[in-house]
Amino acid sequence: MAEQTARSLCRLCNSRCRLLVHTSDGHLVKIEEDRTDPRVDHIFPPTRACVRLPAAKEFVEHPDRVRFPLKRKGERGENRWETISWAQATDEIAAKLGELVSKYGPETLATTSGTGRTILWVWKRFMNLLGSPNTAGQGTI
Ligand code: SF4
Repeated sequence: MAEQTARSLCRLCNSRCRLLVHTSDGHLVKIEEDRTDPRVDHIFPPTRACVRLPAAKEFVEHPDRVRFPLKRKGERGENRWETISWAQATDEIAAKLGELVSKYGPETLATTSGTGRTILWVWKRFMNLLGSPNTAGQGTI
């Protein structure tokens, strides 16, 4: 398959560098800074110095990357896992959350995050729907 190039945005830090992502046959070929970003020569030089960018291919395609839900087998600490489906994972998590909420109330769940640059709104909405105000972190503070 011919190489394709898509414009994208890195959200691994607040710089949010604009990127050109080259893929072929569903695999990442390389990522480079988008030189059309008007910030690139002025206030936003970090893309070239960033160590995350050259590591992106390894990060995305590493053979040990967790791509499916894993459920612990045996006792905690044995490091034994089985792959389960997304449906089973979400069903089991929902059941456990429901059990905790009915036993202790929604405030039994508390979460924390960094600056929340990635999925902050999803996380906040989830906690809001659950009924727990216990979301804390750098962004919240
Ligand atoms: S490429 Fe590096 S500097 Fe740019 S947003 Fe991603 S992590 Fe931050």
